[in-house]
Amino acid sequence: MVPNQSKLAFSLQKIKDLGYRLTPQRIEILETIIESDNALTVQEIHAAIKIKHPHVSLDTIYRNLSTLTEAGLVGQINLQSRESAKFEFQGKHHHHHAVCLSCKKSFCLDDCSVSEAFEKQMKEANFRPVTHIFEVYGYCSECQESDEIPIQAGL
Ligand SMILES: [Zn+2]
Ligand SMILES: [Zn+2]
Ligand SMILES: [Zn+2]
Repeated sequence: MVPNQSKLAFSLQKIKDLGYRLTPQRIEILETIIESDNALTVQEIHAAIKIKHPHVSLDTIYRNLSTLTEAGLVGQINLQSRESAKFEFQGKHHHHHAVCLSCKKSFCLDDCSVSEAFEKQMKEANFRPVTHIFEVYGYCSECQESDEIPIQAGL
């Protein structure tokens, strides 16, 4: 199997295992995200799906994306605004991102920052987590060269 097909097969199985419905739109959204080399905005995904389904609304794309995010298959990047959020295929590889405030490029970080202490607190609060997001905002190496960005640094 070529890698993209096995990513899709893994995803469809996971959707079924979690008890979500496997709709043609969900499958096509997944295919679009899997086949793209870059993270995509909702508008870009919408444009791709509209080729086959001219009547699908932006809201439907949003709803399906949030289901796929909840399923852990899709990762959401740059939550500073709903309009600028991007989505990428995550599959089995849960990870986080650094986002450049200037050019909006994102960089995958391999580590997960959720500690045992977090997990303990959620258990104590009897909270059942579904997904979580952690992002680092800053400036990429290219944008650091620009005069337009503030000099101030630090987390
Ligand atoms: Zn940048
Ligand atoms: Zn990533
Ligand atoms: Zn994490």
